[in-house]
Amino acid sequence: MKKKLLAMASMAVFLISCNQDNKKQEEKTQPVSHVMTKEEQAKLTPDEVLKQFIEGNKRFRSGITTVRDHSEQVRKSAPGQFPKAVILSCLDSRVPVEDVFDQGLGDVFVGRVAGNFVNEDQLGSMEFACKLAGAKLVLVMGHQHCGAIKGAIDDVKLGNITAMLAKIKPAVKMSQDFQGKKNI
Ligand SMILES: [Zn+2]
Repeated sequence: MKKKLLAMASMAVFLISCNQDNKKQEEKTQPVSHVMTKEEQAKLTPDEVLKQFIEGNKRFRSGITTVRDHSEQVRKSAPGQFPKAVILSCLDSRVPVEDVFDQGLGDVFVGRVAGNFVNEDQLGSMEFACKLAGAKLVLVMGHQHCGAIKGAIDDVKLGNITAMLAKIKPAVKMSQDFQGKKNI
């Protein structure tokens, strides 16, 4: 009798935990439709944004990113935008910026140019993002196996690519004492 009671008790615990798991699963799979508001942006600090990006990148690497209702976010963000940060990134198709940090529509400004270098236009865009639109953090994201950096190291000359690579070459020169393999 005592054994039977114990078995029933453990079964009850199991059922309760299953119900809780199902509830958690439902909460997780409910698409996010919220977009950043002016009040939320104002409360953020650069450190907090960086923390959110680190956590988002952990989710990206684990393959479990946030499910979002893009159509609803398009509608909600139409009246205005209040992004957390501006990110300068390479053009590379394998580095989708919002996905890398598990961010959604309206969360970040993204400036992209092959080799993720700054020029006056990129700097002007960053100033717009921070001074006028309230972004709290500037993040520059490079990546491995970058064709633009490899092209600059290998002194590629081709059409407008030549002028573009000339803007990366000062960085190549600055790192000439680096002993490892550069153009990976
Ligand atoms: Zn690249």
